[in-house]
Amino acid sequence: MMINEQINPTDDVDISFSKYVAARNIRYDSHMEGGIPDYAYALDYSLRQKIRAIPGAYPFFKAMSSTYVPLQKQLHNMKSVKVSSNQFPKLHAMLCDCANTLGIGIPTMFVVDGIGVMNAMALTCEDAEPLIIMFSAMVERLTDAEMKAIIGHECGHIHNNHGIYNMAVEFIKGTASALIPGVGQILALLSVPVFHALQVWSRAGEVTADRAGIICCGEHESTERGDAKLTAGGIMGAEINIDEFVRQYDMLRSTPVRMMEWLDTHPAAVRRILADREFMKSEVYYKWHPEQKQPNMKLYTKKELDEQCDRFISVTKSEKRRDR
Ligand SMILES: [Zn+2]
Repeated sequence: MMINEQINPTDDVDISFSKYVAARNIRYDSHMEGGIPDYAYALDYSLRQKIRAIPGAYPFFKAMSSTYVPLQKQLHNMKSVKVSSNQFPKLHAMLCDCANTLGIGIPTMFVVDGIGVMNAMALTCEDAEPLIIMFSAMVERLTDAEMKAIIGHECGHIHNNHGIYNMAVEFIKGTASALIPGVGQILALLSVPVFHALQVWSRAGEVTADRAGIICCGEHESTERGDAKLTAGGIMGAEINIDEFVRQYDMLRSTPVRMMEWLDTHPAAVRRILADREFMKSEVYYKWHPEQKQPNMKLYTKKELDEQCDRFISVTKSEKRRDR
């Protein structure tokens, strides 16, 4: 063979950026169904539709969020530390990895002074870039894998456009409304059904976001431990026995005292953990992680998965019976 006839094996490799972007979009599009991510808990989406149909509620919360999110960005830029490749680089790498896994832009993340406060949140609206707020206790008390699960969870809120609704929940809790003059008086005019709808939605939205965290980690144990540590405060030097913790579900289910759970914006951690475990038995998880799929696995369809999760997440019987 003449030397000039030799074939370079890399000649056929297409390295054009446009082809890369197109392939990336096809990958992400394959995980969208009717404009929503394939892993989203059905109750999350159906309740958002119902809230959106309440006259006046959505435009009000949208307008408030458009003020609140840039305000928070400014406040955190003054008082918190922004995560970047040169600042908490390990957190930044996790953030980029989660954002890339889900196919969203890389959010701005701040670490805020919150020793003893186990919390994280995503703040988003339609007109400003999303923010993730991570309390410093989380950075101290979570393992790397647990931290990635939490970051993936917050990215899941962004991926699912929970922003306005999450902001609405913060407004009704009073945590956000104190910063914007006049909001408290307007909120007082909102009806009890709007408050209730937002609380029930918020619990459903957490299930979707936990699923995003699991997808980002490629396993569910880190999400479970993260949920448990959020409950117990992430005691340093003491591991929570998750299986023992999950047994508290029996007491939750058997008690007639439902009011406190009914008014909560997050499902009890044991409910979340049980719902997380169901997700690991579903077709949709293995669509994101086909490399983990074993032959002859019997998996839930998406509908079966969501019905199983309804059993664990719904606080009242009427929520379990809810049509979607
Ligand atoms: Zn959340």
